[in-house]
Amino acid sequence: MDQVPSSAPPTSASPTPATPHAHPSHPTSLGHGLLVMGDLWNLLIVREALAGPVRFGDLKAALAISDPVLTRRLRDLLSDGVLEADGPRQEYRLTDAGEDLWPAFVAINAWDRRWAPNSPLRVRVRPRHLTCGHRFDPVFGCGVCGAIGLSARDTEAARDPAVPAEAANPRRRYHRSASAAGGDAPIAAAAVLADRTSTSILASAFLGIHRFGDFQRLMPDTAPHTLTTRLSLLTHQGILTKTPLQEGSRRTGYRLTPKGHDFFPTFAFLIAWSEQRFSADGLAGVRITHRTCGESLRPRWTCNACNGALTATSVDVGYTPRSPAPGIAE
Ligand SMILES: [Zn+2]
Ligand SMILES: [Zn+2]
Repeated sequence: MDQVPSSAPPTSASPTPATPHAHPSHPTSLGHGLLVMGDLWNLLIVREALAGPVRFGDLKAALAISDPVLTRRLRDLLSDGVLEADGPRQEYRLTDAGEDLWPAFVAINAWDRRWAPNSPLRVRVRPRHLTCGHRFDPVFGCGVCGAIGLSARDTEAARDPAVPAEAANPRRRYHRSASAAGGDAPIAAAAVLADRTSTSILASAFLGIHRFGDFQRLMPDTAPHTLTTRLSLLTHQGILTKTPLQEGSRRTGYRLTPKGHDFFPTFAFLIAWSEQRFSADGLAGVRITHRTCGESLRPRWTCNACNGALTATSVDVGYTPRSPAPGIAE
C-alpha cells in the first residue's frame, strides 16, 4: 500500500503556511473551523493522523477513499493548517492546530459511545488521564468558572453580531453525499457531521433556529432542495425532530432531540478551536455564553475519576491504529 498513487498527492512544495491562517477573505465565517471539521472525510483523515504520521497509501487503504477525494481533502487540510506534509516519504502529520482538536475527538468519542457504540465509523479512541491513570468518562464544563456537568441548556449560543450572514456559506462546496450514513446502522458522529450543510444545520439548531425559512436565511447559498434533504436526514438520524412550533399550531419546525443536544460539547469545542485558529479577531461567528457565570464559555473536560482538568499534556487520546474501513463509498 506504499506505492505512489496514480494521482499525485498534494505536496508541501506549494506555499503552505507554516501556521494556520485567518482566511482574510473570509475573516470570521460561521466557525470556518467548524466547517473544516464538519466533514466526514476530514474527520476521518484527522482521526487517522491522531495515531501518528500517515501516508497517502495508508489513508487510502484505511478509509477506502478515492484518489481525487483524498487528494482534495489533503490539499484543504494542508491549506487550513490542520496537517503538514514533509519528508521524502511524504507523510502527513497533525500540526499544532490539528493536535488541538483532541478535545473535540474526546467529545465525538463520548457521543459515539453513547449513541453509536457499534458503528463502523465511530471514533475508536480510549482516552486515558495520565495524571490519575484512569480511562475516564469526560465531564463537560466551563473553564472560566469551573462549573461541571454543563449541557447546552446551561448556555446561550448567539450569532456573533460582527459576522455577516454570508460568512456562514461554506468556502468550498464539497459534493459529498451524506448517504454514507445511510442504512439502519447506528449513526456515528462522523456521519452526522457528514458535510458542511449538515454541520451548518446543526450549528443553526444550537443557535435556536427552528423554522425552515430561518435555516434558509442563515444558509442562503444552500438550495432549498438540499436543505430539505438534509433536514430529513437529520430527522431520520434522530438528531432533529419535527414538531409543531407552538402547542396546537399546525406550523412545524425542527428541534434538537436529546441525541442532538448531546452534540453540544463537540460543537462547543469546535467553535472554540475555530475561534482560536481561524479568526484573527477571536470571533468564530458564534458566541456561546455560560448563563451562570455570564462569561464566554471556555469549554473544558474534567476527568470523572479524579476531578482534574483534562489538558493536552495530561491526556493520552489512545487512538488505536487504523483498520480497513467498511467500504465507505463516495
Ligand atoms: Zn462559567
Ligand atoms: Zn483523572
